[in-house]
Amino acid sequence: MLDGFGLAMFLPLLEIVSDPEGTASAEQMGNLAFLVYGMERLGLSLNLTVVLMTMLFFFTFKGIVKFIETYVRVVYQQFFMRNIRVQNISALAEYSYDHFVSADSGRIQNTLSGEVNRVNRAFGSYMSVMQQSVMIVVYSALAFLANPEFALLVAIGGILTNLAFNKLYNATKKLSRELTRHNHGFQGLLIQQVALFKYFKATGLIREYARRLIEKVHHIERAQRKIGILGGIMEGIREPLLIAVVISVILVQINLLGGTLALIILSILFFYRALTSVMQLQTFWNSFLGVVGSLENLTEFTTELRKGKEKTGRQKFDTFRQAIEMEHVSFKYGNTPVIKDINLKIPKNHTIALVGESGSGKTTLMNIITGLLQPREGRMLIDGMDSRTLDMATFQRRIGYITQEPVIFNDTIYNNVTFWDEENDANLERFYTALKRASVYDFVINETPKQEKSMLGNNGINLSGGQRQRISIARELYKDVDLLFMDEATSSLDSETERKIQESIENLRGQYTIIIIAHRLSTIKHADKVVVLSKGEIERSGTYLELVGQSESFKRMVELQEV
Ligand code: ADP
Repeated sequence: MLDGFGLAMFLPLLEIVSDPEGTASAEQMGNLAFLVYGMERLGLSLNLTVVLMTMLFFFTFKGIVKFIETYVRVVYQQFFMRNIRVQNISALAEYSYDHFVSADSGRIQNTLSGEVNRVNRAFGSYMSVMQQSVMIVVYSALAFLANPEFALLVAIGGILTNLAFNKLYNATKKLSRELTRHNHGFQGLLIQQVALFKYFKATGLIREYARRLIEKVHHIERAQRKIGILGGIMEGIREPLLIAVVISVILVQINLLGGTLALIILSILFFYRALTSVMQLQTFWNSFLGVVGSLENLTEFTTELRKGKEKTGRQKFDTFRQAIEMEHVSFKYGNTPVIKDINLKIPKNHTIALVGESGSGKTTLMNIITGLLQPREGRMLIDGMDSRTLDMATFQRRIGYITQEPVIFNDTIYNNVTFWDEENDANLERFYTALKRASVYDFVINETPKQEKSMLGNNGINLSGGQRQRISIARELYKDVDLLFMDEATSSLDSETERKIQESIENLRGQYTIIIIAHRLSTIKHADKVVVLSKGEIERSGTYLELVGQSESFKRMVELQEV
């Protein structure tokens, strides 16, 4: 509006320029004459200085408003981004393990990193579209005020040309969805290349794998290029097309309808602005459509995360006191029964070893006990409370988990063990105690360059398999937990390392409730109970000695290991 009033001042200006001695009159301004009357009422006579100063006033005021607009836009855009990020990160944290295992990790990564930025662009473009729409309405209204007949004709022409663009818009939208899909694929492959780097390198597969990634890069390039070309076509033909419309209308008005050039000029000035806005609107709309695939993807992604939210009870768990009891627990992946009618009691501070062939359901059973998976049938009581009514996150805080593939963060030994706890005397003491109990104290003190400040992970010192395992054990011991879950490494560590790890675990027996997926005899020999699983059912359970006496198959398993 301010811009329009500023522009309207051109007419008095032209009049004064053509007659430097005189002052401007209001007649030329059509329905905008009120501006001139308004100034006269303020006691300003319309000479050159006053007209120029009025223009300066309107445009300065416009500048201030422009600044406010930009500021507001940045604030809203960032608010929007933050909300999307925070919402999705929180939803991912509450996403159930059940859903997670069947989710596409490339998509998760890509959506939360690259796609969020593209959605931000979509938001920016969309806001610009809204803004340009307002501009078009205002300038068109001003143009109508100045010269209604002319304005109407141009508007009709503009709308007709716009229809021609619809086809191009649809093509862009389709390409945008394609692009999002390729981006997911690319991220998925990339994550695996980084995670499985060693394997790919050692087996010489890395080049072949890289070729698959490069293929994706080409797909992405092709989609981007097509979107770019479509954008270029629209950019190129838009202005000539609109100018052609304006010229036709001018010719019609002057030659057939007999309008005056002065009023047409003001109308053209406004229309020029309106048409610039139309063009910008189209550009922004097209760039919005270019990222619409990302927007749709994010919407679906957020819905899926919400749907896959962990179902959890409200009852808080503070500390483990008595026992975990499983009553007729069954579990299915899809329609395939994996765990069938399990009855098992795990008293506090007992060590339970789960053994059985690969695929017999050990991992699934462990996942049920940790609360990662919920029983489909039957129930699990923890200190007498049903796992369904329990707020499982509070139970899980009492759990330490030592996985086959040790978890090492790219950070110092101290942070690896304490999970970024504050570094004070009390915590340091606890840290050293944990190192000692995990039999890794001597290694940290004597063999690392900067002791607890030594960096681990990709950018730090390289640990042996056994050292990694013991650092992970130290982390679980540093935490104040009641239950320790262990997934014994199947890959053979050297016997000295194995002995050390075994020793560290042996020391913990009786102090923690330990549930261990065991592959080694030494582990099950001292367990309070060995549970033999077969095809998802408990085939037998008892102490090591009892089982050797009772079961032929168990005896065979033992003999095989001793070879
Ligand atoms: P174990 O740990 O004893 O090797 P698991 O508990 O990993 O056995 O697997 C038990 C069975 O469940 C296997 O037949 C396996 O194929 C199946 N299974 C495991 N995870 C999934 C999954 N995410 N989706 C479908 N089936 C699965």
